Amino acid sequence: MQKEIIERIKNQLDIVDVIGRYIGLTKKGVSYSALCPFHTEKTPSFTVNPSMQIFKCFGCGAGGDMFEFVRMYESVGFVEAVEILAETAGIAIKQDNGVEYEYLMLNNEIMEYWLDGDAVKSFISERHIDHGLIDTYKIGYCDKNRLLLPKFENKAQMMNELGLVYKDRDGYHDRFVDRMIFPIIQHRYPIGFGGRTMIGNAAKYINSKDSDIYHKSEALFGLGQAKTDIRKNKVVYIVEGYTDAMAYVTAGIKAVVATCGTACTKNHIRLLLRYADTLILSYDNDRAGVSAEYRTCLLALKYGVIASVVRIPHGKDPNKTLIDDGPAVLLKAAENAIPFHIYYKNLFSRCTVKERLRFFSETTNAVKYIQDDAVRTVITDEIYNTLGIEKPHKTTITKKGNPAGRMITIEQQAIPYLFDKRYRSKMLKIVGPEDFVENHDLFLEIINNDQPNVNDLSVKYPKYEQYLYASTQISLAKNMDKLYAIAMHLRKRTLLREMYALELQMASSTGDVAESLSQKWQLKHDLLVVLSKLNTEKNVTHIVDGWKEQ
Ligand SMILES: [Zn+2]
Repeated sequence: MQKEIIERIKNQLDIVDVIGRYIGLTKKGVSYSALCPFHTEKTPSFTVNPSMQIFKCFGCGAGGDMFEFVRMYESVGFVEAVEILAETAGIAIKQDNGVEYEYLMLNNEIMEYWLDGDAVKSFISERHIDHGLIDTYKIGYCDKNRLLLPKFENKAQMMNELGLVYKDRDGYHDRFVDRMIFPIIQHRYPIGFGGRTMIGNAAKYINSKDSDIYHKSEALFGLGQAKTDIRKNKVVYIVEGYTDAMAYVTAGIKAVVATCGTACTKNHIRLLLRYADTLILSYDNDRAGVSAEYRTCLLALKYGVIASVVRIPHGKDPNKTLIDDGPAVLLKAAENAIPFHIYYKNLFSRCTVKERLRFFSETTNAVKYIQDDAVRTVITDEIYNTLGIEKPHKTTITKKGNPAGRMITIEQQAIPYLFDKRYRSKMLKIVGPEDFVENHDLFLEIINNDQPNVNDLSVKYPKYEQYLYASTQISLAKNMDKLYAIAMHLRKRTLLREMYALELQMASSTGDVAESLSQKWQLKHDLLVVLSKLNTEKNVTHIVDGWKEQ
């Protein structure tokens, strides 16, 4: 992307106008304020500064220039954000994007050419899918009257590269004939197509070929349409088929995507976690579906997410449920998704010991990939608890530098700092009793005692002996950073634990679902905001006021 274009956009557009197109801004002195679009709040902490041409949210920490705002708001890449703003400013971007751009434009033209609501209406009706979705998803049909050849004859080679036609000794031939067409739109233009046979071909579904714009392992049907809804609650439903996705939307759940003829990959998960933090799977309930679901859950776990699984009565797939039982039954099943480890625990409780052990080792192995110590600890605890297996006494906070190879728990590390009154007051500005789970009683005994006795406590809590004695050897000046890191870790761990508990609750909530869910989303959101504050160094001095004077 040319620097010159970016400069021209900056010169022509004002950040106040740009952001004003998306959200309502109120003038306050020299700047503007609004309710932040990136987190839920009741009083505005989002401000736009016209003289510096930047925005900043003091609630969640989001901030940047106009490109950053559009990037975040539209969930697009930087190049696309520039494209959107160039369009607003009426600046033509030279299309030196080369072949990628040509592919997209050709796909777009083909989508329009194939588009045909009437041809697919009876298929859609039979499946009880809302007719409006034909237009939402730009569903088309390729019959003898709408062949790509010879209409786009001069683009035959390009269509071959995209997998829309194929070539043999006799030349090029259409690949999608007599198929219903599902365009795959992730941002603006179709990156590819899925085609479902309407005349009983051996291959029920075919897809575009992997190319510069289409990657099977990343392609998600419906993402372009669902993005806004996914972002709203940070939840996404993942299904296996196009009609299953549309069944969900018909039932009232718009935040749904379908993989395109492939299992869910780590690229899919990474992509979706840009928009959502909760993944809910709704696959076929046959052997293959259950196994694919399980693999996907393990993948999600590696990214620190406990995915949930939708259980539909009588083992039907989503579309079949919509047809046989109606939208309410599908909706209810979707809202009662079960966290995966609980679901598989039940499933595996009917299995052999060997299978159960495999489940245990696979889940605990996946957990090892989680980079964040606090998330890893919380999820590990959760799995051990669910399976009723006693966890080995260690946490993974101290991965190296411990010569004996034994892990020192974060709570053990906190003990010396809690012991001395000077550090204790610092510590207690961040942590509280709920942050100490390994030995809650020891924590209370220390903080409720002006002069805790090392010897007495060591006898009572032998596991902590060496840390209790260490308290006599700490130098305040040298260890402030460490004290701070430990305290933050403890706090963050509790918040994450609360968040997961909330997610589990949400996933298994019954009764007045809508109301209790929205309350819980709010709670979860508040927790996320606190967490993001804890992650922002700048806000830390605020939370721990008087801290930096030392
Ligand atoms: Zn915010």
